[in-house]
Amino acid sequence: PTTIKLIGSTQVLSDPSSVVKELIDNALDARASSIVVEISSNTLDVIQVRDNGHGIAPEDRPMAARRYSTSKIREFDDLKDVGGRWLGFRGEALASIAEMSGSLSIITRVEGEAVAVLLKIARNGEIDGQDRASHPMGTTVRVTDFFKSLPVRKQAALKHSSKYLAKVKKLMQGYALCRPKTRFSLRVLKAANEKINWMYAPKPDANLEDAAFKVIGRECASQCEWTIMESDGFEIQAFLPKPTAEASKVRNVGHFISVDSRPVSALRGVLKQLVVLFKEKIAKSSVGLTGVRDPFIFMNIVCPPDSYDANIEPAKDDVLFENSDMVVSARIHNLRG
Ligand code: ADP
Ligand code: MG
Repeated sequence: PTTIKLIGSTQVLSDPSSVVKELIDNALDARASSIVVEISSNTLDVIQVRDNGHGIAPEDRPMAARRYSTSKIREFDDLKDVGGRWLGFRGEALASIAEMSGSLSIITRVEGEAVAVLLKIARNGEIDGQDRASHPMGTTVRVTDFFKSLPVRKQAALKHSSKYLAKVKKLMQGYALCRPKTRFSLRVLKAANEKINWMYAPKPDANLEDAAFKVIGRECASQCEWTIMESDGFEIQAFLPKPTAEASKVRNVGHFISVDSRPVSALRGVLKQLVVLFKEKIAKSSVGLTGVRDPFIFMNIVCPPDSYDANIEPAKDDVLFENSDMVVSARIHNLRG
């Protein structure tokens, strides 16, 4: 059977978009239905993520930003199925952010609390001061001067602000496609170009198609259809341009790939092969598709409950499937279809 390896990444936070990704994962783990990202236009001065999730319980607050501490594994046995339940469980994101940034502060409030608390976090992850704050139930994490402690990286990152802003936007669009009932908002502080701001505000019964309308536009989304495949207990769900799609309506927005509704950024192994296969299918079947270089592809793989290898440190956006039955199944399906 197919097994999955989650490859440990030595660099938890390689650029500002990975900070946003970790903070969004935490918000989703806290069952937020609304996530608001604010980021300064150079992507380093301020990175803030606000959610309406369940907040951080008082007893978990001292540990929140300590390395390797997580509220998500209470017992060792949890590790077995933790892959499916939580987006993060390494307890490394906040600790790494604290270490690499000018400041990290967390405002949080749980249900039933009269007032929210503002926690100032020191570089070593310990609480360095706290205060009362005004905040509805949920959490706001605010990072300033990201990469402060890595001046060389900081200088390099400052040259790529617009690339990182685009990456954050695409990341959030990927989340919206995976989690179409969640509200996502991106606001770039003092944006040079207002078009970078983005918001997806779904109705309660929204589905992927609604999110797709928002991400790729109604015209392009109406040219797409579902392909669902099963292989070895894995389900491949793909939303792709139809064989009859008109080239002028297929937009070159690229692929949005997720595993168990978690966007993945590094495309390798089976995931990469599947994307190549879908691209071939789109190129082959659609009539006169010239100018289609990087068509919209949405794919989510739903994994069976026991498929994660929990012995390997899980950097969740770096997933490798060990055998390629899925590719074989997809190829057969594509030839038939
Ligand atoms: P992990 O997500 O792997 O547990 P993190 O460093 O990302 O590690 O977060 C540490 C802990 O802080 C989490 O286990 C959780 O208890 C708490 N936490 C962080 N962000 C949030 C949030 N937005 N809402 C609720 N709890 C949070
Ligand atoms: Mg986390």
